Amino acid sequence: LLEGKGAKQTEEIEAEVHNSSKHNLGEKTITDVCEALIGAAFMTHNKPGEWHPDQWENAIRAVTKLVKNDDHKMLQWSDYKAAYAIPAYQVGEATASQLDMAMKIELEHPYHFKHPRLLRSAFLHPSQPYMFEKLPNYQRLEFLGDALLDQASITHIFYKFPDKDPQWLTEHKMAMIGNKALGMIAVETGFYKHLRHHHDQIQHQIQDYATELLEAKSISNGAKDYWIAVSDPPKCLGDIVEAYVGAMFIDSDFDYSTVENFFNMHIQPWFDDMSLYDTYANNHPCTHLHNVLQQSFGCMEYRMFKKEVPATNNSESKDVMHAVMIHHEIVTWDKNTSSRYGQIRAAKAALDMLQGLTPMEFRQRFGCNCVLEEVEEKASVVQADCAI
Ligand SMILES: [Zn+2]
Repeated sequence: LLEGKGAKQTEEIEAEVHNSSKHNLGEKTITDVCEALIGAAFMTHNKPGEWHPDQWENAIRAVTKLVKNDDHKMLQWSDYKAAYAIPAYQVGEATASQLDMAMKIELEHPYHFKHPRLLRSAFLHPSQPYMFEKLPNYQRLEFLGDALLDQASITHIFYKFPDKDPQWLTEHKMAMIGNKALGMIAVETGFYKHLRHHHDQIQHQIQDYATELLEAKSISNGAKDYWIAVSDPPKCLGDIVEAYVGAMFIDSDFDYSTVENFFNMHIQPWFDDMSLYDTYANNHPCTHLHNVLQQSFGCMEYRMFKKEVPATNNSESKDVMHAVMIHHEIVTWDKNTSSRYGQIRAAKAALDMLQGLTPMEFRQRFGCNCVLEEVEEKASVVQADCAI
């Protein structure tokens, strides 16, 4: 704990991946304690509903202390802004088309952008050639907005449901800000009309989805979960919602209340009655895998985890590996440059592998000797693992 997680070297992490049976529990426990300390520092000082940067200062200091990394030396909120070097593209003069877009989007969400070029960037699909406007596509802003919506949805659900376990919280958070919900929100806000792309099929995909969604809405009698039964939205729709939130956060000089306002206006109203989404949340592959292992096979000795590993193509960067381990054996894994869907792919692969096995075959195949009395004792550990 004193050394901090940042002190760990890549080789050690890699060694653990190959030799994970003994090492992982200690590493995981340290991680859990560090994360819980940060959560406690946050909970002690945060006041829901009236964000002020001072309330987060102790949590920021806890992160700095525990990660012990040169990339995070922040001691107070304003240090983040100070560390942000405003890129030239953000402050360049906006074109008539960019100003027009900013005006239209302001009618869909009441936030006024000081930097319309930053807003434009949030709506530029990766297929759009850079040379058109010399603006970056939305991917970095999406990355940031994803984390911000995580924060907003987690705190909301954490305060509102004080008695729910971490697995329940994770599943229902995913229902709120997963791709399916954000696709719906892209249509509900009107954001879906502003995406700029250079791709043959995207326009059709967006149009088909929006048509199906709005039809479902028109016959739903105001049901808040009308969007659940509709086909999955194209991923780019959720991306622009996240990128918009990231852009707004930067444009407002890191004012987190802009994120909360967006969340309260456009996301939270669909989730007043969270019980509508219990079944939906349970269909997530990660949850499904927990149920199959625990209920069909009675096994408690398994975990899902992720590790950063050196990339195969480029020694500078890191890939993210998600794996499912049953009784000390890594049974499926997914290695990718982005961590977004790795956990889902690894869980799906494990489900495929377990399909059709009898409980007896399962116990032989994985050397499973779990007994029922362990179930209660270990349940909380297993559930928490899902929230990686
Ligand atoms: Zn077992």
